[in-house]
Amino acid sequence: MRFDVVTLFPEMIRAAAGYGVTGRAVERGLVRLETWNPRDYARDRHRTVDDRPYGGGPGMVMKVEPLRDAIRAARRAAPASPVVLLSPQGRRLDQAGVRELAAQPGLILVCGRYEGIDERLVEAEVDQEWSIGDYVLSGGELAALVVVDAVARLVPGVLGDAESAAQDSYMEGLLDCPHYTRPEEIDGRRVPPVLLSGDHGAIRRWRRKQALGRTWLRRPDLLAGRALDEEARALLEE
Ligand code: SAM
Repeated sequence: MRFDVVTLFPEMIRAAAGYGVTGRAVERGLVRLETWNPRDYARDRHRTVDDRPYGGGPGMVMKVEPLRDAIRAARRAAPASPVVLLSPQGRRLDQAGVRELAAQPGLILVCGRYEGIDERLVEAEVDQEWSIGDYVLSGGELAALVVVDAVARLVPGVLGDAESAAQDSYMEGLLDCPHYTRPEEIDGRRVPPVLLSGDHGAIRRWRRKQALGRTWLRRPDLLAGRALDEEARALLEE
């Protein structure tokens, strides 16, 4: 999977994606990360990438030419990747969306700044718009990093244990169960005894019950309209 991030702050992307799971995935060549800076495509002496909005009003708008040329350079390098604009007006990202994005051979992630980008560029160059939530960030970089991180986890081989993504919250439409590690008791709180029993069937059922119960309590919307299998119904009734 390759990610081509079009950004005025490439160091921010490289630094943040260099840690942990994504950092190791890049090192191992499972994920390729490239950055494209519109400022490198600006033609004037001051390498201008923004200008005042037509019609007046506060803030600046990202100019077409430098951003367009940076996106086109990324397109030439990654012709199979859709161009994805990070925008608070886009489709709200969830795990189903992350799966859809992970099915692509790569993603060209365009990070806006200032008041946003010239609308003609959206019309001409952007294939999809995605938001990471109903709030406004100062720039698309943190949103692009969210996409890179969430999508990279689904790239085969990136996670050490193939099971760990499958059990994460939202993967099966449920929240994850609680997790514990050593010591068995701390500050008067004990690990649930079933996890120490060695009975793998009982542990699996306990975890599923916890996941169902948590989802029912915290995110009942995830269960609404969902057909539960016999075991799930029995666990919820216990
Ligand atoms: N004026 C724009 C609006 O209200 O729709 C907001 C511009 S915002 C200050 C600057 C940039 O941050 C956007 O172009 C976008 O790339 C990014 N951004 C802000 N909030 C975002 C969100 N919730 N999801 C994804 N990207 C976001």
